Amino acid sequence: MTGKPCARCGSTERYASGRCAPCKRESSRAWYAANTERKREATRKWQAANPELVAAYDRKRRGKAANLAAMNANAIAIMTL
Ligand SMILES: [Zn+2]
Repeated sequence: MTGKPCARCGSTERYASGRCAPCKRESSRAWYAANTERKREATRKWQAANPELVAAYDRKRRGKAANLAAMNANAIAIMTL
């Protein structure tokens, strides 16, 4: 179990599962990079297919931001009392 170097990179750093740590890190990094691109593409498609939902989310987000701004204004008003 221990001390056997990885066939791919020669590292002896292993996880408890037995997988080579540097190779696992590299593959998950690559998977993440590939996946963010896919996710972005899926989001683009979803937004194109659901413009009214996107607008609704946008309104919600803007409403939250407006609430936050009002809260900040209140906090400033209290602080300057
Ligand atoms: Zn390796």
